[in-house]
Amino acid sequence: MLTNLTSLRWQDVLDILIVAYLIYRIILLIRGTRAMQMLIGIAVLIVIYFAARELEFLTLYWLLSTFLSSIFLIIIIIFQRDIRRALTQFGRTPFGKAGEKTHQVLDEVVRAAYLLAQKRIGGLIVLERETGLKDFLESGQPLDSMVSHQLLYSLFVHESPLHDGAVIIRDDRIVAAACVLPLAKNPYISKHLGTRHRAAIGISEETDAVVIVISEETGRVSLAQHGALTLDLDEKALRIRLDAIFMPKEYISPKLWKSWLNK
Ligand code: ATP
Ligand code: MG
Repeated sequence: MLTNLTSLRWQDVLDILIVAYLIYRIILLIRGTRAMQMLIGIAVLIVIYFAARELEFLTLYWLLSTFLSSIFLIIIIIFQRDIRRALTQFGRTPFGKAGEKTHQVLDEVVRAAYLLAQKRIGGLIVLERETGLKDFLESGQPLDSMVSHQLLYSLFVHESPLHDGAVIIRDDRIVAAACVLPLAKNPYISKHLGTRHRAAIGISEETDAVVIVISEETGRVSLAQHGALTLDLDEKALRIRLDAIFMPKEYISPKLWKSWLNK
């Protein structure tokens, strides 16, 4: 053991750290999604495969080894959407400030959402994070303006020529309105949800964007993230969720650092 440790090169340490980080990012990406269940399924099959080999269950072993020999291809096919999402995320600045939203932006968005809900006006507000939404911006009307609840509200009122579709917010700017989003591909979505809600789920399946949907029919405000929709949130609950998503958790104030160092 000790000799193994002494022969450890700095490259090995870095290698292990990189692999650990990649595994951590993959788990973060697929946590709570169907991909996670599938991954658990594959892990179970691998355990059965080794058990079959040890116990010499020849037919089962043959069947599983044939299946597992093309496992890479199977994983790529099953997880193609997650892999695409992961690659686009790796392409963005992982340590940058992409997607950050200030308290004020979140205040304005939440205020607009409940004003619209009160008046039963439908709305779809996409908050961009690390994955760029350029393709979707191009389907709508480009804008470049400060986020304010008045502007968001006026974009969605029926008289507005831009009310159909989604508004996209990047950092602290409204960058487009009337954008067409991809509809959800998940076949298990409730039949009661219409296209506005399906579009919110759709873009959150393909990207890491967070989407607020305001229902015209029910006046409910819902939040889509990672392909899942949380229905009917009240103002406080929505705010708590948005804060949890957008307020940088890693930030440790100099005061806190000092108190730790002095311990
Ligand atoms: P609501 O509860 O408000 O009725 P819903 O989920 O039942 O919403 P629809 O009634 O079908 O959905 O809402 C239609 C509106 O949703 C459209 O007028 C349009 O503004 C928006 N919408 C529908 N599909 C998309 C899409 N693919 N991308 C962006 N917006 C869309
Ligand atoms: Mg409807």
